[in-house]
Amino acid sequence: MARHLITSAIPYINGIKHLGNLVGSQLPADLYARYQRGRGHEVMFLCATDEHGTPAEIAAAKAGKPVAEYCAEMHDVQAEIAKGFRLSFDHFGRSSSAQNHKLTQHFAGVLAERGFIREVTEMQMYSPTDGRYLPDRYIEGTCPNCGFPDARGDQCDNCTKQLDPVDLINPRSAISGATDLEMRETKHLYLCQSQLQDKIAAWIDSKTDWPVLTTSIAKKWLTDGDGLQDRGITRDLDWGIPVKKGDADWPGMEGKVFYVWFDAPIEYIASAQEWVDAGKGVDWERWWRTDKGADDVTYTQFMGKDNVPFHTLTFPATILGSGEPWKLVDYIKSFNYLNYDGGQFSTSRGRGVFMDQALSILPADYWRWWLLSHAPETSDSEFTWDNFQMSVNKDLADVLGNFVSRVTKFCRSKFGEVIPEGGTWGARENALIAELTQRLQAYEGFMDAMEVRKASSELRAIWVAGNEYLQSAGPWTTIKTDAETAAMQTRLGLNLIRLYAVLSAPFIPDASATMLAAMKTEDDAWPTDIAAFLSALPAGHAFEVPEVLFGKITDEQREDWQVRFAGTR
Ligand SMILES: [Zn+2]
Repeated sequence: MARHLITSAIPYINGIKHLGNLVGSQLPADLYARYQRGRGHEVMFLCATDEHGTPAEIAAAKAGKPVAEYCAEMHDVQAEIAKGFRLSFDHFGRSSSAQNHKLTQHFAGVLAERGFIREVTEMQMYSPTDGRYLPDRYIEGTCPNCGFPDARGDQCDNCTKQLDPVDLINPRSAISGATDLEMRETKHLYLCQSQLQDKIAAWIDSKTDWPVLTTSIAKKWLTDGDGLQDRGITRDLDWGIPVKKGDADWPGMEGKVFYVWFDAPIEYIASAQEWVDAGKGVDWERWWRTDKGADDVTYTQFMGKDNVPFHTLTFPATILGSGEPWKLVDYIKSFNYLNYDGGQFSTSRGRGVFMDQALSILPADYWRWWLLSHAPETSDSEFTWDNFQMSVNKDLADVLGNFVSRVTKFCRSKFGEVIPEGGTWGARENALIAELTQRLQAYEGFMDAMEVRKASSELRAIWVAGNEYLQSAGPWTTIKTDAETAAMQTRLGLNLIRLYAVLSAPFIPDASATMLAAMKTEDDAWPTDIAAFLSALPAGHAFEVPEVLFGKITDEQREDWQVRFAGTR
């Protein structure tokens, strides 16, 4: 049994995420976690809300609530929606937790002791109109790298370059739009990433199996211009983790907090501590400390491409710089963007489908299947209602749902709700088993490699194989002349339903549970031998005809939704 530590990029607390966010991190991470558990491995799957920084303060002010209260409420909202999508986190933590405060301050203290933090007196943008310093993302302007006009102070969304607010051309306040910004003196801490450049570069070079999308982004920032730059890790804000050197005060840094991008990835570790403190487990160190059992853990991170620089450079700089035996990531699976119906998802304009809305119109499995089978792996992909309707109606309703319905209803009408006896496998059955054996191996290979789209195609092909078998065997015709053979074909069909339940569970967990319940079995052990697996439910075993697994999306619904989500929210 292998041990898998899996983390999804942690969603920001400010508001409900759209489907593009979901498919870029949490959903594929859940797919992988469910798959590894299904294979019988030990899994620790962690996520959290990312709660610090200016956007949380602003959103709380807008909602007329203290920021801590706002974050607590929004955490619960996001946790509930995650449950709705069946995201199977072992713990869904909060970056504002006491555990993360302590651990972040610990890392800063150790990094300072080892000479990887320096204090810098610098000039910072102050907005007299807003009456405050404007940190990172609350300054917008033109990207000095690519000319994108709406780059944020911390990063350009267009070219992904990490920025400092002072780099922006024609800067303006994102709060008020004010352009009368002035520079004022303030003191901040910098993480000396430049000193760690060689170490980080060697580490990334050792990751020869990483996706090109991940390494190309990392290498770009390692080698562009003067290479890896030191990075400010503190901000003039109220809401955040107070700057401390371990448990001790940090003279001169009173009233400042750590920058959200310093503390957010540390929450991956703190989340495991929260998991223990919540009474869900007893030992987090065996997942995170290589001196305490984590040296045999495989650690995989999932994220959108905009998060790659922080996970390949900034967080590893924190870990490597600490000199402590923390578990470093083994594999980073990154995603391109999902676009929406001819444009982009837009939170501000309410364009696209948001996670709460999605669940209000259809169950999670419909979304999970479409999103995963169209995951933006090698390039950006696009959600269209036509494609969604076609994919759901064809793959889920016509292929899988119809198979389950036909076999169970046929059996009920001819043999009753019990697996029928008689007959033996012939050439057609052996050919099906050979095909499924080969396809299972391919499916496992794609899932192990986190090739999400290819895995979904293979799963669909496994469903199709059953349908084709049923079509060519035709037990409804066979039964007129040869009841024994019809019974055997039906028995095989019913066993195929259990196979589909087990293999499909990572993609569509609710339908999987429905299929298992219909077959009146709790045995969801992963198949090792298809022939044995397809004989496991014996003659005489009772089952029941399930409710319709997947309803079809009508043209009327599609047109209605297309209008509804065009952007008014
Ligand atoms: Zn740019």
